[in-house]
Amino acid sequence: MLYITGFTVYSESNSTNPNESCQMSMHIPRIPGIDFAAVGRQLGYLEIEHSDNENDAAVIPSPIAVLSGGDGPTVLLIAGTHGDEYEGQILLQELIRSLNPDEVTGRLIILPALNISAVREGRRVSTVDRANLNRALPGRADGGPTEQIASIVAEELIPMADFVMDIHSGGIASEYVPSAFVYQGPTPELWAAKTAAVAAFNVPYSVVVKPMLKAGSISGAADRAGVPMISTELGGRGTVSLQILNRARSGLRSLLGHWGVLKDAAASVASGAGSQSNAEAPTRWIQLTAQSPVHSSMAGLFEPVVELGQQVMAGDLVARVHSVEELDRPSKDFFAPMDGVVAIVRHPTLVNVGTTLVNIAVDHGTIPPKGNHVPS
Ligand SMILES: [Zn+2]
Repeated sequence: MLYITGFTVYSESNSTNPNESCQMSMHIPRIPGIDFAAVGRQLGYLEIEHSDNENDAAVIPSPIAVLSGGDGPTVLLIAGTHGDEYEGQILLQELIRSLNPDEVTGRLIILPALNISAVREGRRVSTVDRANLNRALPGRADGGPTEQIASIVAEELIPMADFVMDIHSGGIASEYVPSAFVYQGPTPELWAAKTAAVAAFNVPYSVVVKPMLKAGSISGAADRAGVPMISTELGGRGTVSLQILNRARSGLRSLLGHWGVLKDAAASVASGAGSQSNAEAPTRWIQLTAQSPVHSSMAGLFEPVVELGQQVMAGDLVARVHSVEELDRPSKDFFAPMDGVVAIVRHPTLVNVGTTLVNIAVDHGTIPPKGNHVPS
């Protein structure tokens, strides 16, 4: 089966039997070239319309792969929601190239570079409309490029999914302890599904935040749709850590097995050099709250005084900021707002008034906190 659009799109669908031509197909106009009902491997693009001074009617292509082995759950895997976060982009590209649809039970829908304009230039937000995709859902089909991507995710892709994963990292601006990342609740059933997925992924930390903290996020949209979803924050600094990448690779394999979308979870996903079993120490649950961020009240040079993952007590010194120009001005000290774990550290050294320097997270140990279910 071959689809031709304005881009190079091809399919290796197993549905080449002419007797199957009467089977139902499932097309989405904004994703031409992909038949979501077809079995096999299909590669295509979300076609995002764009008009600016250089282009009266251009299309921005965001790549998508669908690997389907027939009946079973649908898992939506996303990376590149922010363009300067790389572990997920690498892992999903690797998955698309290495996984045979015959190894899939159900369907994997994979978007490895969702906000493609941001990915191309290694920036957090869109370089064509400066919008933050992870604050733009549900978006608008007739909106700007970021709103269009958001609406395809919210209106077309999440409703097809039984499970969703959106792989983030700290980007250029920050570094996280390597973490899964989930919203609490919003129902007992969803919270149970999320905590089970987090346990299967099992990276060293798992961050939990209040539900709907960022209503425009993909996590918020999945919560509203009632679809279990986990996100991640795998390091940061605008680069990739080999150790974290390997841990996330084996975690992804475990998670896809847990979600029942691989026929042989142990062998189906690429096992790159250094992959290791995630049957290690169980993940440590930490919670970001409104009190977690320590903001600078001074512009200058940020000096971290703590390490990621360090345990601190309320009142401990965590950061200093030094004035650049005022040589007789003393540095300013910043202190932990609570007992907890240093979960996020600012990466670029130059800071302004209001810049978040570090985040301290409440430490729940290896027991997930309660779901704090929010009535819908
Ligand atoms: Zn991100």
